Amino acid sequence: MSATPSYQPTTADVTLTTLAAVLNGARAKCPEYTSRLDKAAGLLASGRVRGGETGRVWHVTSETDASKVYIVTVQGGPWRCNCPDFQRREDWCKHGLAVALLKRCQEREAPPPPPAPIPFPVLDQIDADAPIPFTLTPKARALLNTRA
Ligand SMILES: [Zn+2]
Repeated sequence: MSATPSYQPTTADVTLTTLAAVLNGARAKCPEYTSRLDKAAGLLASGRVRGGETGRVWHVTSETDASKVYIVTVQGGPWRCNCPDFQRREDWCKHGLAVALLKRCQEREAPPPPPAPIPFPVLDQIDADAPIPFTLTPKARALLNTRA
């Protein structure tokens, strides 16, 4: 990869740079899924992953047959898919992994939460006649004395 990051958009505005980083992390964490993760990244990068309305059901177009769309359901454990691979093994298939990669990429690219507001005293709690609660530093006193 070059030193300059590429910001080529893929599915749902996830960049290839983020996808590559997330994919590398997932491969390192789950080496037994490396082959399926690579295929999942391919599905994601080619725009075959689409979210359903609820966010819990996803549609992934088949790699080999564009007329076939598999349905991935987000749940605890390996996410269910109606493809033959998942039906046979009951374990993560490339479609479930593609959705998982997409969700991880979106989390990574999400803007940081806005900073907490700086607390400021409510105006009617301020007594205008109260002394100002600070003391002058010796340097400030010296400055005031020289001007007085
Ligand atoms: Zn599947």
